[in-house]
Amino acid sequence: MSKSRRRNLHSHRLAKANHFYSPDEVQALYGVCRNTVGNWLRSGLFCFEKGGRRLFRGDHLNDFHRARRDRSKSPCGPYEIYCVSCGGKHSLLEGGLTVHPGRTGLVRLSLACVEGRGRASQWITDEQWAEIKDATKHNPNGKNQD
Ligand SMILES: [Zn+2]
Repeated sequence: MSKSRRRNLHSHRLAKANHFYSPDEVQALYGVCRNTVGNWLRSGLFCFEKGGRRLFRGDHLNDFHRARRDRSKSPCGPYEIYCVSCGGKHSLLEGGLTVHPGRTGLVRLSLACVEGRGRASQWITDEQWAEIKDATKHNPNGKNQD
């Protein structure tokens, strides 16, 4: 568990603040694949588009990774699940949950990591699951299965 968090959380001091990085350079700097950089963009990493090319500024990269580290340290909110796969947290209200009935009074939630590396899962009580289902109904994007 701690091993995978270390692998997926990157230093916020690695990039040079005023340097511009191409996607290839970003991959080399953090030792990640192209897909991972694409996932970071979807998770809110900022990039410049110049002549059809993407450029990343070092201080944006550092800020992005610092924010991810900070998020992973703070406790989960009521409708969030901690993800050992990427070391972050994911909302339970945005759909894509799989629900496995467990022992009496418990269900196991499983959610595909948006970073594309695995699944986050967690045991909750039937009551908590009823609350999540109810909250999902009020979220127009929610598509959790019943
Ligand atoms: Zn994740």
